[in-house]
Amino acid sequence: SKEDDTPRRIQANPDVVNKIAAGEIIVAPVHALKELIENAVDAGATSLEVLVKDGGLKLLQITDNGHGIDRTSPFYVKGSPLLSSKKFEDLNSICTYGFRGEALASISHIAHLTVTTKTKDSSCAWRAHYDGGKLSPAKPGQSPDPKPTAGRGGTQISVEDLFYNVPTRRRAFRSTSDEYNKIIDMVGRYSIHCAGVAFSYRIRQIHGGNVANELIQFSASDDRWGFKSSGWATNANYHIKKTTLLLFINNRSVESSNIKKAIEQTYSTFLPKSGHPFVYLSLEIDPQRVDVNVHPTKREVNFLNEDEIIQCVCEIIREKLAAVDTSRTFMTQT
Ligand code: ADP
Ligand code: MG
Repeated sequence: SKEDDTPRRIQANPDVVNKIAAGEIIVAPVHALKELIENAVDAGATSLEVLVKDGGLKLLQITDNGHGIDRTSPFYVKGSPLLSSKKFEDLNSICTYGFRGEALASISHIAHLTVTTKTKDSSCAWRAHYDGGKLSPAKPGQSPDPKPTAGRGGTQISVEDLFYNVPTRRRAFRSTSDEYNKIIDMVGRYSIHCAGVAFSYRIRQIHGGNVANELIQFSASDDRWGFKSSGWATNANYHIKKTTLLLFINNRSVESSNIKKAIEQTYSTFLPKSGHPFVYLSLEIDPQRVDVNVHPTKREVNFLNEDEIIQCVCEIIREKLAAVDTSRTFMTQT
């Protein structure tokens, strides 16, 4: 047959577009879990249970005791997409990163999502399934409407068969234990950060060495730069091969190579050459000074007066390290 060289119009199917967009945001199960944890914390949860199967690829389930989702919320409007609480105007001052109001909708494009939720005013819990951003039947032939069910106050979100419809992404996972370890790390970060939240794990055990005896507490703030910070850092008696930095900005776990570099620099005069610290740092920065317009997969954040803020924090850590050092020297002399 003759080759057909008439120009072709390539049609972008919105389902495919949504799937690709979601797959770009959620690169691994841990990214979905992070959003679910943040939603639970936002909902005022004080207890949180995480269940993981096959590194989160088969199942990610998180059960919280937060305020639940009201029946009148856009979630339950038949046929409507999962709407977010955030409006365009809020973008300047929101304290969240990453999805900015698209987490659940995104997840539903690349996994089977089930939400079971009960507010304190409701006599029963409601369960709903979502696929492709819409309410959908749990089983073929059933109605997509949310169904009343028994349940405790709070919300349970299940994410099943992540990437089931993105086979190339699914095949890219070499081992489920790598994904599991990333999940353990993320849950560990939030369990440290949310001191008031009692995370109970069904996932086996949290990793990490025993650094508790060598921690010093610090805090710093400066109105000029619109920030407050607090944290714990290991003293000069402790070191590990690689820096562990648990960094939270406005209660979101984020990364910053600038902060990490500055902290390593600060410790370099106190630790042996190959030694590195463990640092937990929580920064609260006036949301208007934080740039939320970064690409969703970018876990790094930008904020105003970054250099000044980093310098303040590192100066405090340096003073604390020096103080511990002196007191030890002093003790050995007596
Ligand atoms: P965002 O958190 O940015 O608003 P999400 O897609 O993550 O967007 O969540 C959408 C909305 O669903 C939230 O704003 C919240 O109203 C509701 N929600 C999600 N998870 C929970 C939860 N665990 N408890 C209570 N409400 C929740
Ligand atoms: Mg969210």
